[in-house]
Amino acid sequence: MVEVAESERLQGNSIVFDWGNTLVLDPFDDLKNEVGQKAVEIAKGSFGFQLDENLFVESWSQANSNLNFQFASHFSQEEPFIQAGLHEANVPAEIRFLLGPLILAEYRKSFKELLENNPRKEELRVTLRGLRDRGKHLAVISNDRSFTPQSTLAWLGVADLFDHFLTSEEIGIEKPDPRVFEVASERFGRPISDIIYVGDDPIRDVECAHKAGAKAILYVPPEKYRSTKRWRDYSVSADKPDATVENFADLLTVIA
Ligand SMILES: [Mg+2]
Repeated sequence: MVEVAESERLQGNSIVFDWGNTLVLDPFDDLKNEVGQKAVEIAKGSFGFQLDENLFVESWSQANSNLNFQFASHFSQEEPFIQAGLHEANVPAEIRFLLGPLILAEYRKSFKELLENNPRKEELRVTLRGLRDRGKHLAVISNDRSFTPQSTLAWLGVADLFDHFLTSEEIGIEKPDPRVFEVASERFGRPISDIIYVGDDPIRDVECAHKAGAKAILYVPPEKYRSTKRWRDYSVSADKPDATVENFADLLTVIA
């Protein structure tokens, strides 16, 4: 637990959260092998094709790291990442055509199950409930697909605690563009100066919120919850967050 003097707690009535790696941690490395196995079964059962599991999982992972496009969800996955993996694994086009969406469906089902059985559920619920009990407005701003924050937070059992969900896919602007906060302020009916933004990314979250005129808390997810071994470099930005927390529940201490 962090200790913060009463007078140093951050003032703000609208607590807005980043989604990816803040409310929901990257599930890809937890799911890829299980889904890779299912992909082999589907390829064999439905198409009589012997998919090379290791080659597919390896090339799918590469595509997930290297490919990007506007509003793409790396957590919920997108068909182009899977198609690139299948292509690299030498799957013929006429099989990939039908196999890609089936693998995507398996992945998303596994993601749902992972969230429903997630060890962070209790801490998230207690923290968000605690903030609501203080009368805070709670919202999400995410660089993601329109359907991801609300559904995934429902599976984590906390969607009901949020007043608003805003995604870059809906508004056509992505963080770190600070105009995201102007749109949010209008939608939420709250001044930007009243927003405390909580996120894991020094540029897209901390710098972006500060440029817009909001406060920013950096969340550093504890290692025990990270499925990926690669982690981010915090030295990419000189902008200092107003507070840093490693335990989600510490938000109850750093926020007034
Ligand atoms: Mg994030």
